[in-house]
Amino acid sequence: MKKESIMAGKTVGTQGLVLNEPLVFEQGAPERTAFSLPQSDMLEKPPEDLLPRAYVRQEIQGLPEMSEVDVVRHYTRLSQWNYAVDLGFYPLGSCTMKYNPKINEDLAALVGFTHTHPYQGNTKSQGILRLMYELQAMLAEIVGLDAVSLQPSAGAHGELTGMLMIRAYHADRGSPRKKVIIPDSAHGTNPASSALCDYQAVSLKSDSRGLISPDLLAEAMEEDVAALMLTNPNTLGLFEEDILKVTEVVHAKGGLVYCDGANLNALVGIARFGDMGIDVVHLNLHKTFSTPHGGGGPGAGPVAVRENLAPYLPIPVVDKEEDQYVLRGERPKSIGKVRAFHGSFGILVRAYAYILSMGAEGLKEASQTAVVNANYLRTKLKRFYHLPYDRICKHECVFSDKLQNAFGVQTIHIAKRLMDYGFHPPTIYFPLIVHGALMIEPTETESKETLDQFVAAMEAIAGESQENPDIVINAPQRTKVTRLDETQAARFPCLTYSDLE
Ligand SMILES: *Cc1c(COP(=O)(O)O)cnc(C)c1O
Repeated sequence: MKKESIMAGKTVGTQGLVLNEPLVFEQGAPERTAFSLPQSDMLEKPPEDLLPRAYVRQEIQGLPEMSEVDVVRHYTRLSQWNYAVDLGFYPLGSCTMKYNPKINEDLAALVGFTHTHPYQGNTKSQGILRLMYELQAMLAEIVGLDAVSLQPSAGAHGELTGMLMIRAYHADRGSPRKKVIIPDSAHGTNPASSALCDYQAVSLKSDSRGLISPDLLAEAMEEDVAALMLTNPNTLGLFEEDILKVTEVVHAKGGLVYCDGANLNALVGIARFGDMGIDVVHLNLHKTFSTPHGGGGPGAGPVAVRENLAPYLPIPVVDKEEDQYVLRGERPKSIGKVRAFHGSFGILVRAYAYILSMGAEGLKEASQTAVVNANYLRTKLKRFYHLPYDRICKHECVFSDKLQNAFGVQTIHIAKRLMDYGFHPPTIYFPLIVHGALMIEPTETESKETLDQFVAAMEAIAGESQENPDIVINAPQRTKVTRLDETQAARFPCLTYSDLE
């Protein structure tokens, strides 16, 4: 496809009818309202006569006074400035921004789920407890481990929960130990989770394949190492080929292996963490198991453990006694509660619905398609972009800006230019082991047509970088606001419309 024709409308990006919108406080007119009620036949009383004085605010001024249509247009216009998986391709590496079937939403919205109260007790919560119990069992089967807690609210929260269990396990055996080894290809949250559990994070260099070298690991593995915390597939999108040797090296010194399983989308029905020698893993239901996410929540990051760690699982645990489901609080060695009540329950319903509607074969096929899609992009894009680790990848592939650097074009420019072509940029500058990284995760829900459009845009940008680098460096031009100073934007957000002009 020619560059010109892409910009002339063959790409998904366009411009018209994205409307300006002032702040809600700058709109409306005195006495304008969004309702009309019949004259009240009740005696009117001032609020001070009806409420305790402390609850009557005196200082509210300048609340917008608007009609219904003004309010509807305001929020609808703002929603159109946003970008979402339901609008288009969202290749944010490591985030698994796949399309989430709407049936999951319908089921999570059933009143039987939404109208229950966490204090209504086991006997009146049988359906909910059964769903949790069965979801625990399904997740345990998918990862090949023995027990699951559904409590953690996010991936990083699952990491914290898992590391607390590892600490409790070692403490029970005499000493919590001091260090946690973390490969430089692990996710950025891993060192933080270890540090929160009072462990010293020791970085392990990946080898030239972008993988963990069992020999380097053996050198670093000492008796004071509590765990190896790895991400598999790692953040380069590569499967740790020596995983069996890796876990053996750690276990030989009495250590445990934590796996960050947020990238499970590449493995469901294909490989199981339990079979790899992993002791604890967290999953991101809001990635692999089809809950919409972004913007900070909500999420669910269940942890799965091998039998020897089960005594430390957070309480309460969902269990089954004869034909009754129960929420149990007694577990003497538990690390305690990590979340109130039943966790992010609505997300558990979505995951349950997703797993049941896909079935074992469907889940496997989803993972296979995710891997095929990532490898399709890898082989297409490596003609225009530097691919530092050129191996078959799993769910994502990582390029760099090395070839474009010669023309002054950097990763940030390529990412911004993609917005002009109507695509959400990929994850950038992560993982840190690739200088100027562009981390692309297409997921299984994208069609070949979408992937081809994305490749065409990336090809066009590579061409522009060479022939007309300024157009890339000064991107985006076709968006609502053009280039922001990102540091300033985060520190000093514009709070009035006039600030934007
Ligand atoms: C997304 C992700 C996390 C963190 O998950 P949150 O739910 O955002 O806390 C951790 N590790 C990996 C590999 C991830 O992709």
